[in-house]
Amino acid sequence: MPLMRAARFYEGSKSLRVEEVPRPEPGPGEALVRVRAAGVCHTELHFLDGLLPPGKSPLVLGHEVAGVVEALSDQAPGLQVGERVVAYYYAPCGRCRCCRRGWENLCANLRGQLGFLTDGGFAEYVVVAADSLVPLPERVSFEAGATLACGATTALHALREIAGVRLGETVVVYGVGGVGLAMVQMAKRMGAQVIAVSRTAAKLERAAALGADHTINAAEQDPVEAVRMATDGAGADAVFELVGVRETMDSAAAMLGKRGRLVFIGYSTDDFVVSPINLVIGEQVVTASVGNTLTELQEVVRLASEGAIQPVVARTFPLDQINDALELLRAGELVGRAVLLP
Ligand SMILES: [Zn+2]
Ligand SMILES: [Zn+2]
Repeated sequence: MPLMRAARFYEGSKSLRVEEVPRPEPGPGEALVRVRAAGVCHTELHFLDGLLPPGKSPLVLGHEVAGVVEALSDQAPGLQVGERVVAYYYAPCGRCRCCRRGWENLCANLRGQLGFLTDGGFAEYVVVAADSLVPLPERVSFEAGATLACGATTALHALREIAGVRLGETVVVYGVGGVGLAMVQMAKRMGAQVIAVSRTAAKLERAAALGADHTINAAEQDPVEAVRMATDGAGADAVFELVGVRETMDSAAAMLGKRGRLVFIGYSTDDFVVSPINLVIGEQVVTASVGNTLTELQEVVRLASEGAIQPVVARTFPLDQINDALELLRAGELVGRAVLLP
């Protein structure tokens, strides 16, 4: 049986183990993809911190995958061996109540979920449901393409589907990592006034270069006051919480304007505490966003291929250095995504 190298998570372990494992074989309706690039998401740290249980152990992590179709188990319409692709990381059932409503990211009966339930892309090869593969145009590099699968597409889902951001609104992107930098660009394209908040000057500089109207360094100034100032006292129409610790959650809630929507994307073990009276008197909404749909990934691939959004790759790493990449991510030292080249 042919072997391949993969970075696997063992439940309870604080780092990933790079080892030789059997190369997977595609079953009915599946494709084998030679992974050319795999983005490293903050979710990986949640597994290592015990915040998210893996679907199995050991598990190959990695849900941002771009590569080339190596083999197809049977005919897949519109898909050929040798084709450049990016993987939609969910394999929804297509039949449950959520799937029928178009909420594939909430499917109650997933056939697979790369790097969560089933083996993902931190490996030389990965098996993906053929109908979850999206063609990646030549204009988009594998490194850039990988970052679209979770980072940029999650940003689109949160902005449009969950928060319903409209022309002229004020949007706060609270935390400018991989998702946040995509969100800044998209919110700007949607006609919003964009305020980026971070404690890292280099991330704020990049956010400004990508279109943020205001940047607030939360290590230097009170972000609530700064948002009030930037909005003539009105507060924000939508705040995207990409950090999710007590301090940032409190600030995010306090900077909401009337009918403001607070959207959780980031989380930690900290609880969110809110006084209902503040929500009631301002008709404010607290909501959350997870993942994305296949259609949204197709749209984001098109946006990237047209140059309408710029994927931000901080650095690339060989598979062997996955734990170094994770440490840099945890330290907040990466501007954009770390991408593995397995
Ligand atoms: Zn992710
Ligand atoms: Zn379903």
